[in-house]
Amino acid sequence: MSETSGSTAPAAAPVKRAAGRGRSVELSEELKAYQGVWVFVEHDLGHVHSVSWELVGEARKLADKLGCQVSALLLGGPEEELEKFAAEAFTFGADKAYIMKDPVLKGYRNEPFTKGLTDLVNKYQPEILLLGATSMGRDLAGSVATTLQTGLTADCTELRIDPASHALAATRPTFGGSLYCTIMTLAYRPQMATVRPRVMLMPPSDASRSGEIVHDTLGMVETQIVTKLLDFIADAHSNKINLPYADVIVTGGKGLKTPENFRLVFELARVLGGEVGATRPCVQAGWVEAERQVGQTGKTVRPKLYIAAGVSGAIQHRVGMEASDVIVAINTDANAPIFEVAHYGIVGNAMQILPALTQAFAAHLALRSRQVA
Ligand SMILES: Cc1cc2nc3c(=O)[nH]c(=O)nc-3n(C[C@H](O)[C@H](O)[C@H](O)COP(=O)(O)OP(=O)(O)OC[C@H]3O[C@@H](n4cnc5c(N)ncnc54)[C@H](O)[C@@H]3O)c2cc1C
Repeated sequence: MSETSGSTAPAAAPVKRAAGRGRSVELSEELKAYQGVWVFVEHDLGHVHSVSWELVGEARKLADKLGCQVSALLLGGPEEELEKFAAEAFTFGADKAYIMKDPVLKGYRNEPFTKGLTDLVNKYQPEILLLGATSMGRDLAGSVATTLQTGLTADCTELRIDPASHALAATRPTFGGSLYCTIMTLAYRPQMATVRPRVMLMPPSDASRSGEIVHDTLGMVETQIVTKLLDFIADAHSNKINLPYADVIVTGGKGLKTPENFRLVFELARVLGGEVGATRPCVQAGWVEAERQVGQTGKTVRPKLYIAAGVSGAIQHRVGMEASDVIVAINTDANAPIFEVAHYGIVGNAMQILPALTQAFAAHLALRSRQVA
């Protein structure tokens, strides 16, 4: 890994944006100079959010198409191990890392992070900027895009390079999830997109890869920042429920009819060592926490095993789970749309099948553990 000396020069002035009103699709000469694919690396309490590595993997594919470099952006406090995170980014496919350390960047706040990111963009001029569609990424992406006066496509499900224009073609659900649209930012740079955790695959890690680190400075003091971070109180529920990264998920739908019947889903998940998911109507009815909702307005999941009981399989639910390795659906209606994406289908009453599965798996796993012992 080579390290260049830190640049303390003030950020370059923002490049003049595409002119005027109307639908300009021409890239100005200044904006044609923008090059490279950047990924904002989100970290918290010493851990990088996996969505950042998923995006580095996607950025690598885009950069290989464009023939340019992938850079990771790391902003944080002076004591944070950003160089260690940069080294990890290189193993996932990044060529370069921009690191900005400052006391005001310890713990996420919109103002200093927006200034840090927009200054870096104006100075180093990337063509594409990707962020995770997490609470932090969504907050930051919106303010960075408006400050830079560029286009942002949120919650993308696919990113590719348009062969004709060489622009980023960012696909996302629209019209309540019933259609997909592909959005291109033709006249502005950088082209920005957010992607939810688990939508993209985790790239393989190559320990032999290294890259270049560039240090930069923020030039902002605490008195310039309105928001004060007084304390961090973790949400007791959201820390426990880690749906996007669960290997096994048992999801219940409105077909279970009552919250008492929904307990059958929890029992099967417990025996399988998995997580519990739910459809939106179950969350809206208050049967389970909002963090358990799978789908377009909930979480995107990619488990090894997804069991859906009493779930109709509406498109808004399917977009969140159809990339699962193995899908098992239990439904009384043999024509339910969930069977279109299921690898195994059980036509029957979930209130009978769920306890039968729980019992069968418990007996099988008990036998296995006796054999191992
Ligand atoms: C903008 C928008 C965003 C949305 N986002 C989401 C989202 O993120 N996630 C989400 O899930 N939904 C979302 N929805 C709602 C979605 O359109 C569906 O209404 C919802 O997914 C249906 O939930 P369900 O399958 O639990 O219920 P239902 O559609 O009522 O289906 C219940 C199913 O259970 C079956 N059933 C009935 N009795 C039994 C039984 N005894 N045993 C087994 N099966 C039985 C029925 O045959 C039926 O197929 C969204 C909708 C909109 C408009």
